[in-house]
Amino acid sequence: MPTICRDGEVCLAVKTDVMEVIIHSGIYEYTQVQNPRHRPTTAEIIWSIEKPPFDLLMDFLLTSAEVYKRYRSEVTSWVVHNTTTGDTYTKYPKQEVASAISTGMMYGENLAADEILLIVMHSHHTMNISFSATDTADEMKTAMFPTINVVVKNIDNFSLLDPAKNVDCRCAYMGGFYPLMWTELFAEPIIPECVWTNIQKLKPKLPSVQPHAIGVNRSVTFTPDDSFFVGAETGAYDMDMPTFQTYADDFDEDNRRRPPRRMTHER
Ligand SMILES: [Zn+2]
Repeated sequence: MPTICRDGEVCLAVKTDVMEVIIHSGIYEYTQVQNPRHRPTTAEIIWSIEKPPFDLLMDFLLTSAEVYKRYRSEVTSWVVHNTTTGDTYTKYPKQEVASAISTGMMYGENLAADEILLIVMHSHHTMNISFSATDTADEMKTAMFPTINVVVKNIDNFSLLDPAKNVDCRCAYMGGFYPLMWTELFAEPIIPECVWTNIQKLKPKLPSVQPHAIGVNRSVTFTPDDSFFVGAETGAYDMDMPTFQTYADDFDEDNRRRPPRRMTHER
């Protein structure tokens, strides 16, 4: 594993076709003082492709909520980069709906030759737990190369103002697990300041998730089709799904064209 010196700090660095992962040691060369800016054994990502957009995370949140509602189940999604088209998108591999989903499943079956797997996301539906022992065991299988994993917890109580409360991210590499901020993985949405002010007043959350199935069939094979994902338009969802775009639409008339303001999740 290559060791590099970055701003005086000793770091481990590993490069793939799409990114460079920098793992902070918290140790400055020679002096061994703690790095004031980065906790030891946290990681950061330097993307060599365009950073995946926030919409991909949002898509996963909405799908997680819907899958929980329908099946009371977790769900796994992959963020994939297509080297032919240059596009980055989510892909839902064919999966057994169950309480635990293997994150190390069926890569060959579900990925085309020109697709690179960037991020593995899975939900812990309404549970307030981060990566499990099962997740760790799964990630160890593929950790010869750096793998980026995301778990979404408490899907029924999701704060759009602070995704870090619900979204845990880490990089698994060579037996180590290195925490990441979600902002390392997804570009933050750009929101006009006047809209942002109104969003803060509303305290938007994903709608509460109430499973309406009485019997839960855990052997259902979940293969998302188009009709699943256009639910918001066809009315399959029980209520309007809040997105930043809908809030932007709501407050269009108040938009005084102030300079755009980014969501603040700076470290
Ligand atoms: Zn898990």
